[in-house]
Amino acid sequence: MNGYRIALIPGDGIGVEVMQSAREVLGAVARTFDLRFDFTEFPWSCQHYVDTGRMMPEDGIGQLRSFDAILLGAVGYPTVPDHVSLWGLLIPIRREFQQYACVRPVKLLPGVQSPLALPKGTDIDYLVVRENNEGEYSTVGGRSYAGTPHEVVTQVSLFTRRGTERIIRYAFELARARGKQRVTSATKSNGIIHSMPFWDEVFADVAAGYPDIESEQMHVDALAAKFVLTPQCFGVVVGSNLFGDILTDLSAATVGSIGIGASANLNPEREFPSCFEPVHGSAPDIVGQGIANPLGQVWSAALMLEHLGEPEAARAVEDAMQRTLEAGIKTGDLGGSANTAEVTAALVRELSSVA
Ligand code: ATP
Ligand code: MG
Repeated sequence: MNGYRIALIPGDGIGVEVMQSAREVLGAVARTFDLRFDFTEFPWSCQHYVDTGRMMPEDGIGQLRSFDAILLGAVGYPTVPDHVSLWGLLIPIRREFQQYACVRPVKLLPGVQSPLALPKGTDIDYLVVRENNEGEYSTVGGRSYAGTPHEVVTQVSLFTRRGTERIIRYAFELARARGKQRVTSATKSNGIIHSMPFWDEVFADVAAGYPDIESEQMHVDALAAKFVLTPQCFGVVVGSNLFGDILTDLSAATVGSIGIGASANLNPEREFPSCFEPVHGSAPDIVGQGIANPLGQVWSAALMLEHLGEPEAARAVEDAMQRTLEAGIKTGDLGGSANTAEVTAALVRELSSVA
C-alpha cells in the first residue's frame, strides 16, 4: 500500500468548505486504490493573521518541508490586503520549495458553458505552464526623482538560463507525459529585445531535443487571440511569469466557471513538496451557505495524485468529475441546483463504483 503525508492548508472562507470535499474524495480514492493518506491540517490563513499577526509561524516553511505534497484551499479576507497573504504564505511556499512550474489544465468539461461562440463539439483540452519564480516579477528596479516631473522608474525582468531552460524543458516533458503533440511558446521578441530573443533561443535549443513533439513560437498578443478564436489548437503552452499569469486567467475564463479551475505549483525534481490549489479565492460573498463549487479543489487534488505518481487514481477523480457533471449534479455557478455536499457525495459514489 502506497502512503502519502499531505499537508492541508484550508485557508479562509470557502477554502475550508471545499477542502472538506477534497478530503472526502481522497478518502474514497484511498479505499478504491488501496492508498493511505496521512493528513496534517494547518490553520494558516488570513484569519490566523488577524489573530496572530502572521499568516504562518516563523518556521512554517520548515514544518511543511517533510510532506509529500501541500493541498491549499484559498486565502483571502476582506480586511487583509492581498499582498499580506501573497508574501506571508503563497510566495514563500513557491520560492522556498522551488516550485518553478505552475501548471493549469484548461479543459471544457461536459455541461459547462464556454463564453466563446465555438462550433458545437469543439474540444478545448490543453495545459498552460507558467514560469513561477523569476522573469518580470523581480524586485530589481526603483524610482528616481519620485513625484517630480523628472521621475524615472525601472523594473528589471530577470531571466536566468537555468530558470528558462528548466521551465521550457518541463513543458516538453509534460507534453510527452500527457500525449500532447505540440508545445507553443509565448514570446514577444519583436518588442522586448533582450529577454524574449533569449527565451526564443533557449526554446529552440530545448525543442531540438524533442523531435517527436511539434514546437511553435507565437507572440503573446496573437496567442491571446488564438486562445479565444481557436482554443482547440493547443497542447501545452509555456510562458514567462507575466505572460503565463495573463494567459492562465484568459484560458480559465474560456472554459467556464472560476469554481472549476485548478492549479499545481510544482517542483518537478521532487526535492521539495509541490503545492496544489484551486484558482478561485475565498469567496466571502457565498461563505457559510454550503453552495461553493468543490470541483476546483477536487481537480487540484487530482493534479496532486498525478504528481505523487498515482496517475490511475488521478484519472479516476477526473472521470468522476466528468460523470457527475454529465448527470447534471452541479452547483449554482454552473447553472445547477446541487450544493457542495451533494456534489461531493456524487463524486464519492462515482469513485466507489470504480472496479
Ligand atoms: P479572494 O480575495 O480570496 O481572491 P475574491 O472574492 O476576490 O476572493 P473569488 O473568491 O475567486 O475572488 O470570487 C470571485 C467570484 O466568484 C465571487 O462572486 C465568488 O462567489 C465566485 N466563486 C469563486 N469561487 C467559487 C466557487 N468555488 N463556487 C462558486 N462560486 C465561486
Ligand atoms: Mg481576489
